[in-house]
Amino acid sequence: MRKKIVAGNWKMNKTAAEAFVLATEVAQLVKSEVPADVQVIMATPALYLTGVSQVVEGIDNLAVAAQNCHEKASGAYTGEISAVQLASAAIPYVLIGHSERREYFAESNEQLAAKVDAALANGITPIFCCGESLQLREGGEFLAYVADQLTASLFHLSAEEFAKVVIAYEPIWAIGTGLTASAGQAQEMHAHLRVHIAAKYGASVADDCSILYGGSCNAKNAQEIFAGPDVDGGLIGGASLIAADFITIAKSF
Ligand code: PGA
Repeated sequence: MRKKIVAGNWKMNKTAAEAFVLATEVAQLVKSEVPADVQVIMATPALYLTGVSQVVEGIDNLAVAAQNCHEKASGAYTGEISAVQLASAAIPYVLIGHSERREYFAESNEQLAAKVDAALANGITPIFCCGESLQLREGGEFLAYVADQLTASLFHLSAEEFAKVVIAYEPIWAIGTGLTASAGQAQEMHAHLRVHIAAKYGASVADDCSILYGGSCNAKNAQEIFAGPDVDGGLIGGASLIAADFITIAKSF
């Protein structure tokens, strides 16, 4: 059985004081309102990871995630944080390949493959992000394009390694735009990716893989999107910055 997951991506938002308030509110609501079989994750700015880790301690279905990691273990990479360092601070999840990282920081499929390897080698669960631009969507090649992103950055893994990866499908045209993929569009892509995974790793690995949807998912539309049989939760940007909205999404299965 695959996991239901709702992960908040705070991006570069919140001051230290605000982050503590948000994390504390989310922690209280997860304890009192979110079913135990829904894993809630907060991907906070790196600066707040250890602080927020303390807030979530002892809540089994609430965890923190980093928003990125460097592929090398250590060295002269000013401003970067390695998977080794994240693991040393007991950070259990890391986003890899968010479209903003791909676009603004020129992260390539090859580099993302190395980041996935670094995360897995250090016992950290990668949440691997993929998704097409509006141009690709309109050009009609989007299903193959996103499947190719998986092939390029994940399909070097063994089945045992792949089984540890979470996928997040985020159409770029839906991120932060208020334009959501329809429930049908999300389900179509998720089903396509699951078939693609099954062709490589077999039906049981594909069946067990959690595939999240991201892109203007909010408290109003989450239920309809999560109803798709291949949609196992969401990666939530803007709506994860308000505790009540985020928790409504986590209760939308
Ligand atoms: P959004 O962002 O929910 O604000 O569209 C999603 C994401 O980028 O992960």
